[in-house]
Order: sequence, then C-alpha cells, then structure tokens
Amino acid sequence: MANIWYIQVNRYCNNQCHFCSNPSNWKNISYKRGIELIDDFIKRKYHWIIFTGWEPTLSSDLSKWIKYANKKWINCRIISNWMQCSNIEYVKELKHAWLNLIHFSLYSYQEKVHDFLTDTPWSYRKLIKAIQNSLTEWITVQLNCVINKYNQNHLDKTVKFIVKYFSQIRHFVWNNLDPQMMRQTKIALSTLPDFDIASKSLLKALNFLNSTNRTFRVERLPLCYMRWFEWASTETRKIVKDEERIVHFLDFRDSFQELEWEHERWPECDECDLRWICAGLYEKEKYYNYVKLIPQKLTKEEKEKIIKKIKSEN
Ligand code: SF4
Repeated sequence: MANIWYIQVNRYCNNQCHFCSNPSNWKNISYKRGIELIDDFIKRKYHWIIFTGWEPTLSSDLSKWIKYANKKWINCRIISNWMQCSNIEYVKELKHAWLNLIHFSLYSYQEKVHDFLTDTPWSYRKLIKAIQNSLTEWITVQLNCVINKYNQNHLDKTVKFIVKYFSQIRHFVWNNLDPQMMRQTKIALSTLPDFDIASKSLLKALNFLNSTNRTFRVERLPLCYMRWFEWASTETRKIVKDEERIVHFLDFRDSFQELEWEHERWPECDECDLRWICAGLYEKEKYYNYVKLIPQKLTKEEKEKIIKKIKSEN
C-alpha cells in the first residue's frame, strides 16, 4: 500500500485558473507547523509527502521542509504550476534541498488555451521554461492535466507534444474537473467537460502512452468513460489496494483522512459489472447531471485481469 500525505502549505497563487479547486483564502502554515506535520507523517509510516497549496513554491519555507524530510529519509514531491521555476536559481535551490520529483500542470499544448485557463498571460511560456530548467537540474518531471471543455478534444495531442519535446517525462496524470470547490463564475462553469468528447481523446492519449511504455493515472472519471484502462483509475486502485490518504487543507475541511473512495452511485450502476471497483460519478446531482452513465458487461476473466494488473504494480 502507498499511503499519501498531502500538505497544503498556502492558499494563494500566481496563476488564477478558472477551475481551481482550492481558491485563495490567503492562509499559510508556519515553518514550525510544517515540521510538526512531517514528524506526524513519520510516526504514521506513510510513504509519500506531497507539498501542495494553491501554490507551494510561493512559500519561503518550502525548500527547508523538503530538506528536513529528506534528512529523515522521507520521499517528497510537490505539485506546482511552476511559474517560479522559470527562474533557474529557484530550481537550483530546490535541487539543493534534494527535491527529485515534481508534478507540473499543463492544460494544453496550445498556448492560447493554457493561458486562457490559467487566466494568466505568459503562464504557458514560463511553464515550458520551468520544465526545461527542472530537467536540466535532473529533477524528475510528471505532468498533471485537468480535463475540461477547452482541452477535451486534444488531450492526446498535448501528450504527443510533451513526449516529442520532453521525452524524459514518463508519467502523466489527468484529473476530471472538481466543480464543487471551484469559483462559481460563468467562465468557471463553462469549463465543465463533455464526457463523450473528452473520453475519445483521453483514450487516444492512454493508448499512445501505453505504446511508448509510459505510465499514467486518471482521477474522478467514471470507469465507463475509460474502458480498458480501468486499472489506471486512481480511485479504483485505492479501492483494490485498500489505500488511504490524509490531506491537510487550509480551510474548513482541516485534516481530512480519506478511507472511502466511492463518490455517488446511480441506478445505472446497479446493472454494471464494474460497480465493485468503480467510484461512480462525483457531483452528478448538482453539476454533472447531464452525464449519461453506461453500465458495462465484463467476463470473469476480464475482471480478474484488472485486479491482477493493479496488484502487480506500485
Ligand atoms: S455505470 Fe456506474 S458503476 Fe458502471 S462504470 Fe459507469 S459510473 Fe461506474
């Protein structure tokens, strides 16, 4: 089991993504609080600390926490928009703290689409520079992407672009949009994806990555929209492996231990052979009420194959 510990270190950002699920409240944690959380992590014998935020690189204590965790032999990584890492000196500071893995968020290979979604001019160019800087410093880079209306038809093209120009990147993560916590503006709500269109380009992307021996995960997408790659669903893997994660939010949710991975089940799910490993559809009633769930039929062998694949991997 790979239990994960997310620490939100702040709640402000230098991007303004329309669909951000952790909008700013201007809170942050002190250096001392960060150390307490890392020590608590060590006691609980978790496997990974992920520093997140709205934007963890805006915390002046980030490299100190990373260094402290590394001295205790704890694996840590950060999830970031990487605007700060367009500055090579900052990347060197993180490398000096022994950071060896980052996730960066790229929404599209099209500069206009990425900058529109981040609501921040030049964010695409800074991100590309940040990727170059990180790879130059031998930091492992992984790609995160939020599936939404504006990138839903070219998820595969974005992946092919990255593989062409940054072939060292071997792992990709897609998150289906979380509408509950995002800003409720007209533009933000316009980003809700069409699942049929998104599924087509996502499946092309997954097939491509599979053919190049790269790895990937997909979060918050019902399994009926990622058939044949059920084993790559984050929630399905956690259900099968009985994993947990703790998230330290800097809002009303506070410390939140996730042990249950199911979202919401609907009558269609009762007829589906995937229901025992599918988390269902998140926020169907309020936001995703236009999405049609499609019950699936699987043979016993197909079911066993999914479980076997998940259990054989970390
Ligand atoms: S019909 Fe329901 S249980 Fe079946 S794959 Fe879709 S969301 Fe999951």
